[in-house]
Amino acid sequence: MRYTQYLLPTLKETPADAEVVSHQLMTRAGMIRKVAAGIYNYMPFGLRSIRKMEQIVREEMNRAGAIECLMPMANPAELWQESGRWEKYGKELLRFKDRKETDFCMGPTHEEVITDIVRNTVKSYRQLPLNLYQIQTKFRDEIRPRFGLMRGREFIMKDAYSFDVDDAGADASYDKMYQAYRRIFQRCGLKFRAVEADSGAIGGSFSHEFMVLADSGEDGIVSCDACEYAANVEKAELIYRGLKTPPATAALQKVDTPQQKTIEEVASFLKLEPRQLVKTLIVQTSEDEVLAVLLRGDRELNEIKLVNLLGVDWALLAEDEVVKRVTGAPTGFAGPIGLKIRVIADNEVKGMADFVVGGNAVDVHYTGANFGRDFEVSRFADLRQAVTGDPCPRCDCGSFESWRGIEVGHVFKLGTKYSAAMNATVLDAEGKARTLVMGCYGIGIGRTVAAAIEQNHDANGMALPMPLAPFQVLVSMVNPKDDAVREASEKLYRELIKQGIEALLDDRDERPGIKFKDADLIGIPLRVTVGERNLKQGMFELKQRASGETTLVPVDETAKTVRQLVAEALDFD
Ligand code: ATP
Ligand code: MG
Repeated sequence: MRYTQYLLPTLKETPADAEVVSHQLMTRAGMIRKVAAGIYNYMPFGLRSIRKMEQIVREEMNRAGAIECLMPMANPAELWQESGRWEKYGKELLRFKDRKETDFCMGPTHEEVITDIVRNTVKSYRQLPLNLYQIQTKFRDEIRPRFGLMRGREFIMKDAYSFDVDDAGADASYDKMYQAYRRIFQRCGLKFRAVEADSGAIGGSFSHEFMVLADSGEDGIVSCDACEYAANVEKAELIYRGLKTPPATAALQKVDTPQQKTIEEVASFLKLEPRQLVKTLIVQTSEDEVLAVLLRGDRELNEIKLVNLLGVDWALLAEDEVVKRVTGAPTGFAGPIGLKIRVIADNEVKGMADFVVGGNAVDVHYTGANFGRDFEVSRFADLRQAVTGDPCPRCDCGSFESWRGIEVGHVFKLGTKYSAAMNATVLDAEGKARTLVMGCYGIGIGRTVAAAIEQNHDANGMALPMPLAPFQVLVSMVNPKDDAVREASEKLYRELIKQGIEALLDDRDERPGIKFKDADLIGIPLRVTVGERNLKQGMFELKQRASGETTLVPVDETAKTVRQLVAEALDFD
């Protein structure tokens, strides 16, 4: 492709509404253009990356035995009424009527339509297992579309659905998809983790989210440095092997702690570490209960674990008046001794003795406090937020590393939720009707490309990995008016194209400074610069975008070198 004949509208300025790097760079590099909130044009340069992602997904899905099909965007309400989701799905489901006043929706996901296909076409267990997928535009009327392709309203997704006659079959189908997903994101050249998204074995359903690691990620995740365990911090389990309560040795003592409010202040005033204190949080729940939650001084409460433990809709730190009413002191001095409300504690507190707690009075704390002796704990549970260094709950030797992640894929064992509601059955070997056991598997195509940019960029622009980059090599002629430069560039360009390399020739009559800025911005992995001075020595300059590494390569070896570098970067088996 020649730059002068292409449409690659780069921008110097960062668009005002683009909060994250991928959105900024995709817009500035002419990959996408906004049409309406959460709705974008895929410009030629961006579409090339999208198509590459689709192709990787397609190849790996096919390899895993899934079969491609394509379902309509417009779904009749009828099918959604059968599953019960017509009423249950929120406003994200864009509902509309056709000219005959029949209800329809834009498919945000396709469980209903696929289940309808399968119940009408698959009759016998012999036709199973079956896994059907599509790469299709979805519509979800997201309340806050943002971050460009990361959270759009209209976006491209690969969604696959597996059908099996029993649970064992469904688990095998799930595992195949899990492995296929690992290959897909490895092939893209991305750093990622497969995170347990739902530990609940209830109803035979479980799921993993695939997270691309990036500082801008919406999700906090932890992963074991020794085994495969990874989880959202909100869900990460914490265990304490061989935890014993040490004997109480100190006497309970009231101490004055004038003007010392925070854990850090109190600890340093008493010449202790925050970990030798126990903090007391007064919490209020949706069930109108006020209770005290104890944590080691340096720990944070995980509200989701607390909500799950209590089985309530929400649990929040209590308002100042409530704290005053139950503790008799303003917020900041609460302690478990003498409280009339339920006291629960994080498991870790079980391993503590002779600690410091609040005194339920201004500027007063207790030292030498011990549960069981000085106050009662009605329940110990896993209540705190996981952090770097915490021990892995699955293996004996590993500990947690922390990351931020972007959810790019999701594998989900559905069980019989849709097949039962929509009466999708097959006959088993005994001729008995069996409800199909399903799984569903999604990958955000555009979100993955955006996440790849979040993970691979610098101050000057993007540096997409070779498998997802719109072109593989940029040939940049420093001065197209110079005959030798132009001819050498054209020759190299033709040779690369002939060898099947995706080359973009910057043949614009622009200042070198502008060309280099654009080259850094659009971030094509390899750049060959053809300049008068090097050319006189029989050399081209070859630069790798990601590492910045620059070498001089003899003119007649350049095509071969480029071909090798491209082949190495795409190699995967
Ligand atoms: P999220 O929690 O981010 O809203 P989700 O859990 O609702 O996503 P799924 O229904 O699991 O998403 O969809 C499968 C995949 O589709 C996601 O892993 C993500 O990569 C992609 N995806 C979902 N919603 C969007 C969106 N609004 N824009 C772009 N991609 C999306
Ligand atoms: Mg999801």
